[in-house]
Amino acid sequence: MKKFAVVGAGISGLSHAYYLRKQIPDSEVDIFEFSHWGGVISTRRHKEVIFEAGPEAYLMRTPLLLQLTKELQLENELIRASKESATRYIVKEGRLVKLPTGPLGFLFNSVLFFPEKIKVLLAFRKKFNLWQNMSVFDAVKSMSTMTAAEYFASAFCRGVFGSEAEDLEFAAILPELYSAIRKEDSLAKAMKKVAHEKKAYWEKELGENAYHGFEKGLVSFRGGLETLTTKLKDFLKEDHLSHIRQSKVSSLHKSGSKYLLHSKGQKYGSYDAVFLAIPAKQAAEILRNENKETATLLQKMQYSPITVVVCGWDKKNFSAKGFGFISPRKENLPILGTQFVSNIFAGRAPENQFVTKTMIAGDNTLFSDDELAERVLSAHKRLYKISAGPLWYEVIHYKQGLPRYFLGYTEWKQNVLEKLNQFSGRQNLFLCGWNYDGIGLPHALEKAYLRVKEFATTWKEDSK
Ligand SMILES: Cc1cc2nc3c(=O)[nH]c(=O)nc-3n(C[C@H](O)[C@H](O)[C@H](O)COP(=O)(O)OP(=O)(O)OC[C@H]3O[C@@H](n4cnc5c(N)ncnc54)[C@H](O)[C@@H]3O)c2cc1C
Repeated sequence: MKKFAVVGAGISGLSHAYYLRKQIPDSEVDIFEFSHWGGVISTRRHKEVIFEAGPEAYLMRTPLLLQLTKELQLENELIRASKESATRYIVKEGRLVKLPTGPLGFLFNSVLFFPEKIKVLLAFRKKFNLWQNMSVFDAVKSMSTMTAAEYFASAFCRGVFGSEAEDLEFAAILPELYSAIRKEDSLAKAMKKVAHEKKAYWEKELGENAYHGFEKGLVSFRGGLETLTTKLKDFLKEDHLSHIRQSKVSSLHKSGSKYLLHSKGQKYGSYDAVFLAIPAKQAAEILRNENKETATLLQKMQYSPITVVVCGWDKKNFSAKGFGFISPRKENLPILGTQFVSNIFAGRAPENQFVTKTMIAGDNTLFSDDELAERVLSAHKRLYKISAGPLWYEVIHYKQGLPRYFLGYTEWKQNVLEKLNQFSGRQNLFLCGWNYDGIGLPHALEKAYLRVKEFATTWKEDSK
């Protein structure tokens, strides 16, 4: 029987372990986690309020999550975001402006001036030459206008990555679109191609039936996103060929074509394959002694620390409509933006409470929670009428932060994988998770499914 190890039990590690057991039934899987099972996914409570300290929602763009929830018997727990939360705002010149929801929305939007709107619309018919380490800011500016880069690109990067558009590589965060733009003779064709290929690919993968009645959109679970990671952990706990290990892996040792893992003075293994579903910085520590070259490269990964402040307000003092707002860099607000979380999923807060979740850039651990809550209040007072501060708040620091897909990231990742494959000699040591697979939850799940499938296929062929 083959034995595999997964290090890290965030959504990436848990789904790798799950798909390994599903796709290679005659295998044993050990999964190691030293801290919180679920990783960044963390659903918490404040009295009757349910809130997410980490990710708020899963953007369902393929039916893979639906399939998984059926397998885990979680279908009835899955909930969709409210219609109201489809409306998002951006701050422009100190005021809130609705974000357009599609290309035509640009025409009626007041972020761009009229000649800029025409330029943006015409851009869809043009061919563009982007280069690999071009920033999101420069790519958007070259394809449309300065204002679009300053507002839309900045808002997107701050809202999703907690980083500035000038610091993120376009090719790294939108790799399929980047390649399509280089190949196709217009932006519209490139966008269409990416959407079409994605759908065709997953239709083939999951079967056409999977798309019947399938609707894209933001989803979560009645009890929060941790419902999913808890269920995945329970599946592995109950499965007699999976082993849950509450332990920090400190190093990896290669022995022939297999691996040993060291944790708290104990040796585990030997493993036929290891999946390191942990951030690059932690993977570097594990590989430091055995594979210095890869470890040195992994150390170069960059991160954007952020702080999250969740506030509960009496609706009499403050409430607002929609999903929330993002503040582009140009606006100089001391926050990145705020999600109105009690508007997004029903049943998360009592009727009289409005719950918000604000992101602040940087490592703010030197500030007290009171100071950070005060910063949130003063930023919101610039945009809304607020008669009193929040009833309660909780501050969560992400000191290491979100992976920053820095300028040069694509080349960095290629070099890392090359060095890692030279070391492993066989495709049996993998780097997984949001430092490599994409920033969001759907990336983690889709990549785990595909990586394990490819691994299982080559594995079975090699074993013949
Ligand atoms: C504030 C915030 C909001 C977000 N919002 C969204 C959102 O709304 N939608 C969305 O799609 N995405 C969102 N994201 C991103 C999403 O949370 C991540 O993509 C995803 O959770 C990352 O999962 P992961 O498994 O790759 O990594 P992690 O969750 O970081 O898991 C890695 C795990 O490895 C463990 N580990 C590390 N080293 C070791 C070791 N040596 N031994 C054993 N275990 C180890 C860690 O303890 C951790 O549990 C958000 C992220 C943050 C921080």
